[in-house]
Amino acid sequence: MTHSNINKVNVNLYEGIFTENAPLGQKSWFKCGGTADLLFAPDDIDDLAVFLKEYPPEEPLLVLGGMANCIIRDGGIRGCVITLGKPFAEIEVQGTRIMAGAGALNGSVAAAAVKAGIGGLEFLSGIPGTVGGALRMNAGAYGTEIKDILIAAMVLGRNGSFASLDLDDMGFRYRYCGAPKEITFVGAIFEGKAEETSVVRARLKEIKSTRQSTQPISEKTGGSTFANPSAAELEAIGLPEGTRAWQMVEKVGGRDLQIGGARMSDKHLNFMINTGDAIAADLENLGDELIKRVHDQFGLYLHWEIRRIGEA
Ligand SMILES: Cc1cc2nc3c(=O)[nH]c(=O)nc-3n(C[C@H](O)[C@H](O)[C@H](O)COP(=O)(O)OP(=O)(O)OC[C@H]3O[C@@H](n4cnc5c(N)ncnc54)[C@H](O)[C@@H]3O)c2cc1C
Repeated sequence: MTHSNINKVNVNLYEGIFTENAPLGQKSWFKCGGTADLLFAPDDIDDLAVFLKEYPPEEPLLVLGGMANCIIRDGGIRGCVITLGKPFAEIEVQGTRIMAGAGALNGSVAAAAVKAGIGGLEFLSGIPGTVGGALRMNAGAYGTEIKDILIAAMVLGRNGSFASLDLDDMGFRYRYCGAPKEITFVGAIFEGKAEETSVVRARLKEIKSTRQSTQPISEKTGGSTFANPSAAELEAIGLPEGTRAWQMVEKVGGRDLQIGGARMSDKHLNFMINTGDAIAADLENLGDELIKRVHDQFGLYLHWEIRRIGEA
């Protein structure tokens, strides 16, 4: 059965592009999963603001970026998905600050920072996806995360109203942003520090090569499957501080577990991969089985870091 919400939208009001039954799963990093009833790629921020104002508040609405951190379930996504493409991908440098649209790729932001001699943003170079996704996930790597470089995030509310949020409004924790769920990030201002381009470039190169040797970056994957347990969670079950999710996955037989076409990567046991013919349910069942095994053995629930989106 196919679904569509196109009759709930007056498409003539907008410059942007609508696609019915858009095959989002195939475009996600996992390369599997269902379709979105309706996909809207706004032409600019005004187009998006009008859409948010007009789209019925009771209808489901979701914004997605590079889909590097999500499983799109096989039954697809009801309602409308917003995707921020080229019109939202501009990057501008002012001194040690970088203004980036929420559709800009993290890698492009890192590259612009290097070119301008701005240090501190190079961790973004190997985090797939967009600025919007990085804000929502408080993405981070090698000891730096979005919260360390953010000056302000520009957002549209569910009714299309514009606001600028500062660091305190974002409620950042490890891989978590407490800003209201219904907002759409449209841009961000980041700040680094002035440094020699050659020094920043060397650090960026090092990050890239470490990542290449430790993560399955050319596989169909979604990054870390589970958030690493907090110090308090580990203390409660008597495990040493710093124990990582991948170590628990290994201890419960995660290296040899395969469900359909889904298994954990040999290169990094917290990275789940689609070996070729996985459906989204295989990925989710694998994650749930590992959560169960870890709980049975250690008494701790691992939390999904990957977002599971849509209907099974
Ligand atoms: C090989 C690989 C390596 C990775 N390594 C890392 C790593 O080192 N560190 C790390 O933190 N992550 C890592 N990830 C995960 C992923 O890259 C990050 O979570 C990234 O921030 C996701 O961005 P995205 O644009 O793809 O978001 P999506 O996956 O599209 O969406 C993620 C969430 O953000 C929301 N969202 C997206 N855009 C917007 C917006 N404009 N407004 C509001 N909400 C929005 C979505 O609704 C969803 O809830 C890795 C992933 C892969 C595949």
